[in-house]
Amino acid sequence: MLRHLIFIGSLLLFIAFAVVIALNKQEEQKVVKSQLMALNDSTGNNKTGDQMKDKIVKTDAEWKAILTDEQYHVMREKGTERPFTGKFWDHKETGTYKCAGCGEVLFESITKFDAHCGWPSFYAPGDSGVIAENSDYSHGMVRTEVICNKCGAHLGHVFNDGPKPTGLRYCINSVSLIFEKK
Ligand SMILES: [Zn+2]
Repeated sequence: MLRHLIFIGSLLLFIAFAVVIALNKQEEQKVVKSQLMALNDSTGNNKTGDQMKDKIVKTDAEWKAILTDEQYHVMREKGTERPFTGKFWDHKETGTYKCAGCGEVLFESITKFDAHCGWPSFYAPGDSGVIAENSDYSHGMVRTEVICNKCGAHLGHVFNDGPKPTGLRYCINSVSLIFEKK
């Protein structure tokens, strides 16, 4: 009888410990989550909620007035700059690449890699909400066009032959980008 009681007692003690440990873990996760949210808020990178609706809409004439001819052709008419001619295909400085149309932060230099294709290539956007995708069936190919989510500017295409960790290659026209050194 006593043995049984001891056995049940230690079993209960064990369960109580397990519950306490599980609760602690949950609490830790909550803390990490809130820290991440605070970080996003402070860097202005949080693209959820109202900020997603914060789109820039301009007429063709308005875009023409603020973009160069080449920028207008690429960004508003979905053109492509010739490979190995842009400012950034071989650019290796540390900093941030922003949309040349609206200034939205699109890529960080840490994700830039040399794809030997003649256009600046990145394996991930700077933040999840900044780039939108469209299916592109032009030129007899099936590709995924990437555009700036804020102003709708054509940036380039995304392919599945990129390096780790994403396996993606965002192949971007230099003229669609402006660079800010860190
Ligand atoms: Zn933009």
